[in-house]
Amino acid sequence: MTHDVLVVGSANADLVVPAERRPGPGETVLGGDTTISPGGKGANTAVAAARLGADVALLGAIGQDPYGAVLTESLRSAGVHTDLVKTVARPTGIAYITVTPDGENSILVSPGANHALEPADLDGALSGVKIMVASMEIPLPTVERAVAAAAEAGVRPLLNLSPAAEVSPATLAALDVLLVNEHEAAWLLGTGVEPEKLLGLGPRSAVVTLGARGALVVTRQGTTEVASPKVEAVDSTGAGDAFTGALTASLAAGASLEAAARRAVRVAAISVTRRGAQPSYPSAAEVPEQA
Ligand code: ADP
Repeated sequence: MTHDVLVVGSANADLVVPAERRPGPGETVLGGDTTISPGGKGANTAVAAARLGADVALLGAIGQDPYGAVLTESLRSAGVHTDLVKTVARPTGIAYITVTPDGENSILVSPGANHALEPADLDGALSGVKIMVASMEIPLPTVERAVAAAAEAGVRPLLNLSPAAEVSPATLAALDVLLVNEHEAAWLLGTGVEPEKLLGLGPRSAVVTLGARGALVVTRQGTTEVASPKVEAVDSTGAGDAFTGALTASLAAGASLEAAARRAVRVAAISVTRRGAQPSYPSAAEVPEQA
């Protein structure tokens, strides 16, 4: 089976516990009720793109446990093809998230099954694909193989360099689009971020997300600011993945990078007005092609 978009990345269950304060070393704190919600950068991106009508498959890994089932259910109900999601003999990735009344999150991620996603899993996965988008919660060699294999196969390689990590110059140079938030851009470039310098690292273009301010689209023709709609933010979990998924869906449908970013800020803005990552992503009907 071939699909327009192949997402290569993580799938995690987000276990969210509200607490008055976070426990210190050796301490036990009683928190509120746990919410279990499907997350992980790869699965989030795939769900965001599929909700907008893109033909998407996820290449990922989950364990044979109830959290894996939660993820599979979320992917399938969004219309993501799961034939390339493998089940392995390790626990499904889990993000343990403590939320305190000041709105701050502390997150401990146990990657588990995501660590079992290997470069060899890319074999045969790219045939017929138009766009491959990878993110960083999986082993680095798998990310680098995904980008190289896509470039070799004539598939547009996109990379959401999140969480920020050292990738090879060859990987950056093979990218059609490098996607980063402001912190990741600063990490890549050092202080005094000049977005144009991202192209000096090798990608053909770059997109920098700026939270409530929207995003910058950086190409050899120049840098364009794309403003975000003003919204009442409730929970920004997975906003960057919503942006990445929406951008990818529009590119797969033939949009220019700038047009894709204009729709992606509208999609990501809706996602921050609702709780959770995947449950917060809008359908195509909520974000008509251009208002
Ligand atoms: P990340 O989630 O990776 O930290 P950002 O904070 O830059 O990345 O958010 C990604 C995108 O989500 C932004 O480009 C914007 O479109 C949208 N977004 C995030 N926060 C807000 C907000 N408070 N209001 C409107 N849009 C937001």
